Amino acid sequence: MGRIFKLCLVVFVMVSCSEQRTKIPVYAWTGGPGDATDQELRTTFKDFKEKGIDGLLYNGGQNPETYKRVGALVKEAGMEFHTWIPTMVQGENPKISKELYALNRKGESAFEKPAYVDYYKFLCPNKEGTYEFLANLYGSVASVEEVDGIHLDYIRFPDVILAEGLWDKYGLVMDQEFPEYDYCYCDKCTSDFKEKTGIDIKEVEDASQVQEWKQFRYDLITNMVNRLSKVVHSEGKVLNAAVFPGPSIAKKLVRQEWNKWELDAVYPMNYNDFYLKGPEWVGEITKEEVASVNGSKPIYSGLFICPNPENKTKENDPENHGLLPSEIETAIRGSMENGATGICLFTPGRMKAEHWEAFERAIHADYSIKESN
Ligand SMILES: [Zn+2]
Repeated sequence: MGRIFKLCLVVFVMVSCSEQRTKIPVYAWTGGPGDATDQELRTTFKDFKEKGIDGLLYNGGQNPETYKRVGALVKEAGMEFHTWIPTMVQGENPKISKELYALNRKGESAFEKPAYVDYYKFLCPNKEGTYEFLANLYGSVASVEEVDGIHLDYIRFPDVILAEGLWDKYGLVMDQEFPEYDYCYCDKCTSDFKEKTGIDIKEVEDASQVQEWKQFRYDLITNMVNRLSKVVHSEGKVLNAAVFPGPSIAKKLVRQEWNKWELDAVYPMNYNDFYLKGPEWVGEITKEEVASVNGSKPIYSGLFICPNPENKTKENDPENHGLLPSEIETAIRGSMENGATGICLFTPGRMKAEHWEAFERAIHADYSIKESN
């Protein structure tokens, strides 16, 4: 009898453990809604939720009404709803004066002559009009009841150095800061910098060697985030952002010193293939990220998924690279064992059945053991 009782107890414990299975927090970048009906959106969101996604960073343009509609459906499915709206990159818009766009070291406007790709129309973060436009935009979206938070993206300068995985694509060797990719040299930025430091940056032989000039521009982005944080918080909503990894890489490539930003959570894009690294690198960089904020706020490790795993080795464009089903466990484990609060998928739409199988196992594993090390 005693043995049967013990056996029952063991079975009981196993069953109750599996019912309260551990799961890591999972977010995902996605967007729409295009022409999708409410019912189609419901089906998609229910599927995301069942696969283990807890919240969406949703890109749906700049109209608050879109977020009201989609947000209601996301909440109905039981997920958090954060609006993913680009910050410094803004296309032609009657509300934005052409004077607000950033200038490179050759004096060319990011509106007239964007770097790398046509959409790289970056605003100058030092213009009051830029702040006013963004405060209005994010304030109006944050005031929508269905919105839990605002998710900033492109909250940075254009890449003064491209990630190494992109050099071939653009035919560049970016071993230094070239003037056409180096921003912002508008009159306001250069004169404010001169007033602050006494340095006339336009007269310096090699601007890339002036540490104060780098710091000045990190601070411009930091100030913008911190001012927007007040706007979003005053609506009772949270503020978070997609950032480059590090922040060592973020500072060097796009001038984001994000460990100083007043965010409620950080979503570093730990996209290993862009840096010609394997999946184990995701854990290494997560370690730096968690340490950079002294564990004071959640880090959600952004994972770039390979959309066509069978073709990865034949693809030259890193946009089509990313984690294979066989790599996803390494990336998730590395993130969690190095202190990430959870992960974020770019994107659920790129995930194949084999990805979801590996993902399902990895999000239910117990990563608490290594914390004592
Ligand atoms: Zn400027």
